[in-house]
Formats: sequence, structure tokens, C-alpha cells
Amino acid sequence: MPTPGLHGYTSPWQRPEHADLAELARTFFTKEVLPHAARLAEQGHPDRAHYLRAGELGLLGLSVPEVYGGGGGDFGHEAVLLHEQTYTGETSLGLAVHSGIVTGYLVAYGTEEQKRRWLPGLCSGELVGAIAMTEPGGGSDLQAIRTRAVRDGDDYVVNGSKTFITNGHVADLVILAVKTDPALGAAGTSLLVCEVGDANRGRLLDKIGLHANDTAELFFDDFRVPRAHLLGGEGEGFALMMRQLPQERLVIGVGAVAAMQRAVELTVAYAKDRTAFGKPLIGHQNTRMVLAECATRTRVARVFTDDCVARHLRGELDAATAAMAKSWLTEGQCEVVDRCLQIFGGYGYTTEYPIARMFADARVQKIYGGTNEIMKELIARAL
Ligand SMILES: Cc1cc2nc3c(=O)[nH]c(=O)nc-3n(C[C@H](O)[C@H](O)[C@H](O)COP(=O)(O)OP(=O)(O)OC[C@H]3O[C@@H](n4cnc5c(N)ncnc54)[C@H](O)[C@@H]3O)c2cc1C
Repeated sequence: MPTPGLHGYTSPWQRPEHADLAELARTFFTKEVLPHAARLAEQGHPDRAHYLRAGELGLLGLSVPEVYGGGGGDFGHEAVLLHEQTYTGETSLGLAVHSGIVTGYLVAYGTEEQKRRWLPGLCSGELVGAIAMTEPGGGSDLQAIRTRAVRDGDDYVVNGSKTFITNGHVADLVILAVKTDPALGAAGTSLLVCEVGDANRGRLLDKIGLHANDTAELFFDDFRVPRAHLLGGEGEGFALMMRQLPQERLVIGVGAVAAMQRAVELTVAYAKDRTAFGKPLIGHQNTRMVLAECATRTRVARVFTDDCVARHLRGELDAATAAMAKSWLTEGQCEVVDRCLQIFGGYGYTTEYPIARMFADARVQKIYGGTNEIMKELIARAL
């Protein structure tokens, strides 16, 4: 059944194969992962078995070429997967990072040897990927990172720490932003692919939402990384990140729209069922007006997102448009979810109702992937 307000709408870039993928993903999340949601939230990280199962079903590395074990698709396939994950309410697997970002870096910048070493494992779920840019001293100012990598023979020796790293507790492979030459600022930044272990892991951070997905600290103490694991050239890290960030921001936008659709759908159903003053909530004018506004905002958001996905598929998504998508869609998500929660009354504040968890989960969308303030800077610079 389509989301209320999205009747008759299909994303112009979608093809019949996307519907089959959506069905497969929805069934996996609903039948195999969501039954464990409470336990996963309690443990604070996903089950490795669910990554392996996703790999077995062909849901990991959808946009990775088949020769490296992937699905041979494109960003449209990843967008369908991420939409379904949020739309079904699954939040444990860090697929937005694992599939939406990490495999993309390796496909775009990896050497043949690097691709053969890591992509098959990322596609099967035997490896889980993360990307670590943010440091305790700051996340917005990426040029100011301090984690240092010094050449020593055939290795780099890495010292420093990262924080707020999605998948940080379970990841085996971390794309790490380091300084190889601090004197050069941004031009002294490089990316190293690190095969990490428990010795690198710090605290699993206790968050207000997204309880089933791990966000962790990472530490590097004279940690040796072969020079062959440098991604791109030395000093190219900042430029490579800037090139990939539009996709990372679009990935966040795709999740935002899926959450808006889910919020509207859950709330319309509740408002039809719950009565007050002798009639269903949806019979009261204010409820009708709020839901009409939320449904309209969601539809506009979906159309804008589809335009961004289509642009990205054509290789034309620029940084400012991606920043518009990330900031406007996540602000829309927070607003729509908040207004929907209000319609649930007291029940909306209890965690047994999904809308309450969606409210807590939504908040970080305005913070990570570059804060919305930084997004507005990027938009303004392009005006
Ligand atoms: C759940 C979660 C998951 C995350 N996952 C990852 C991950 O996988 N990898 C990763 O590298 N990072 C990750 N992050 C980190 C995230 O990207 C950073 O938190 C974010 O970029 C902001 O950095 P900061 O927290 O250091 O805030 P700061 O940079 O200290 O900013 C604090 C405030 O100041 C504002 N501000 C800063 N500079 C300016 C400016 N020039 N103009 C106006 N306002 C400004 C910011 O917008 C913000 O409101 C994650 C964070 C969270 C909470």
C-alpha cells in the first residue's frame, strides 16, 4: 500500500528490477532483523549474523561491480535498499556507511589489489566497513584533524583518535582520515584503509537514539598500516572526501524521506483508529490540517530527493545541491516526526510506539554527515 499522500507516485529513475529489490529488502528487514530489535537496542550494536545474511541475499555491495562480488548495480540500488531499511523501521545495520559510503570509496579510488582484497568481504558481510573523519577535538573543521601517519619503511605508523564512528564497534575495515604532512593543511591529508581489531576500539557511545547501531571511539597507538593500504595518492585525502561527500549527504536525505513517509503512514492509521470527543482524531480539523501539511511536505521531499538521485546517477549532483538535500530533508524529517508524535498524545512519548523512537532517531540527522549549519555555508558559497 502506498504512503498516504504518495498515491500514484513512482520515482522517475526507478525500474521494475528496483521493485523486486525493494521487496527482498523489506522482507529481510521485517522478518529477519526487526524481530530482534529490542535485544539489538539493548546490546547497542547489530548482529554480525545479520550482515552475513544480508550478504548472502545479495543486499551488500549492490553498486559494486560483480567481478568483486557485488551486485553490479548503481546508486539507485543502494537508494532503494536504504529507503526500505528506514521505511521498515530497521536501524541496527550501518548500511548507509557500509554500502552507501565505504564500498563507494574503494570502487572509486582503490587499486586493483585493494579492491580484490576488501570488496568481496564487504559484499559478503564478512567484513564491516566504517569511515573515520571526526576527532574528539572537532568534526566540522575537517582540515584541522590531528591523527598523524608517519612513513616508516613499507608502513605508516599512525597515532591519534577518532570519535562518533558509525559501525566503530563492529567494523573490521576503517577508512581513516590522517595527516601525512600537517604543514600542508588540507593538502597534507590522506586516507588509509585500516584493518582494525579490538585493540583499536574505545567506548561504545551511549546515545539518545539509534540504540541498536554502534557509534564508537577508535584509537591508534603506533598502529602500523602498510603503505599499500593508502587510498588514492598521499595528500589527496581531502579532495577525495570532498568528491564523495555529496553521495554521503544524499544517503542521509534518502533516509530522511523514508522516515517522513513512515511517520505519515503510522500517524494516519492511528488518527483513523483513535477517538476523542466521540469521533476519530482524523475527524478533527486540526488533525486533518497537520496531516495534510505533513503529507504534502513528504511528497515534495520525495520529489526533490528523486531529482537528486537522478542527478547523481547522471554524475551531476553538485556539492551545494547535495547540501540542500541533506539540510532541508533532515529538517523536514524532524519537523514531520515531531508533529506526527503530537497526534499520538501521551502514547507518542512512550517507547512502545515506534513514533517515539523515530523522534529520538531523527535528531542526529541534522548533526552527522556535516552539520546543517555547515550545509548552509556550502549552499551560501555557491549563491
Ligand atoms: C550518531 C553519530 C554518528 C556519526 N558517525 C560518524 C562517522 O561514521 N564518521 C565520522 O567521521 N563522523 C561521524 N559522526 C560525527 C559527525 O559527523 C560530527 O559530530 C559532526 O560533523 C559535527 O562535528 P562535532 O560534533 O565535532 O561538532 P563541532 O564541529 O564542534 O560543531 C559544534 C557546533 O558548531 C557549529 N559550527 C561549527 N563550525 C561552524 C561554522 N563555521 N559556522 C557555523 N556553525 C558552525 C556546528 O554546526 C555545531 O552546531 C557521527 C556523529 C554522531 C552523533
